[in-house]
Amino acid sequence: MKIKRYKKVNRRLNFYNNNFGFRQPYQLLIDGTFCLAALNNQVNIADNIPAYLQGELKLLTTQCALIEAEQLGPKVSGALVILKQYSLHKCGHEGKPVPASKCFQSMIGATNEKHYIVATQDRDLQQKLRTIPGVPLLFLVSKAPMLDQPSQASKNYVQSKQCGITDEEKQKIDKMKMDVGIPVESNIPKKKRKKKGPNPLSCLKKKKEVVKPNSSVGNSSKVVSNKPHKNRKRVRIPKHVHEAIFNSVSKIANENKIS
Ligand SMILES: [Zn+2]
Repeated sequence: MKIKRYKKVNRRLNFYNNNFGFRQPYQLLIDGTFCLAALNNQVNIADNIPAYLQGELKLLTTQCALIEAEQLGPKVSGALVILKQYSLHKCGHEGKPVPASKCFQSMIGATNEKHYIVATQDRDLQQKLRTIPGVPLLFLVSKAPMLDQPSQASKNYVQSKQCGITDEEKQKIDKMKMDVGIPVESNIPKKKRKKKGPNPLSCLKKKKEVVKPNSSVGNSSKVVSNKPHKNRKRVRIPKHVHEAIFNSVSKIANENKIS
C-alpha cells in the first residue's frame, strides 16, 4: 500500500478513535452488496480489509442481510456464501426480517453507540448513514477498499463538541461571575494613569546627599579626587564654618588617639 494511502486511512480512523471512541477490534458490519462487489473484483475481505485498516476486525452481518441475499436468488449466491461466513449479530428483527438497509440503520440508531463500521455498496444507505455523526463507511472502488472521509455531520458534531460552550452558556457564566464579584473581561475598565509629583522617597535621598559632604569633609574630598575632573561650581564655605569643622574633626581625632 502506498504511503499516502496508508496515512489517509490512519488519519480517518484516528478521527473516529479520538472523537467517537472507536477501538480495535473494529466491528465491520457487512451487507450482501459489499460481498458481491468483493466477489466480482476478487477481493478477499478477510485478508484485504484488515490489511487496509491496519487493525483487528470483527466481521459481522445480520440475519436480515442474509435473508435479503437469499431472496435475490442465484445471481448473488456467491455473495451469500461469503456473507454466511461472518458471525451474526442480533438485530432485533428475528422472525420479522426487514431489508438490510433498514436493519443496519436500526443497528446504528442515532449515535452508533456500538461503534460499527458499515461496509456497503448501497448508495442510498451510505447517504442516510452520512447524516448520522460517527458512522465510518467502507466500500470498494473497483478492487480498492476505501474508508470514506468523515461526513459533514461527523465534522459538525466534533466542532460543536470542541467549542464546548454556546453563546447562551457564555452569558450564563458571565452572569455568575458578576454575582460572585469576578470582573467579566469585556466590562473591566482600563485604568488611566494620573500624573503625580516626584516620588517622595527620591526627594529624601537627594537631601541626604547634600548633608553628607558637610558631615565628613575628609572622606568626600578623597572620593572626589579619584573621579575624573568635572566642571563644578565651587561652593565657598565661610571661614568661621571651616574653622568650626576643622576643630570638631581634630577633636574627634584626638579622642580616638586617647582611646
Ligand atoms: Zn435486522
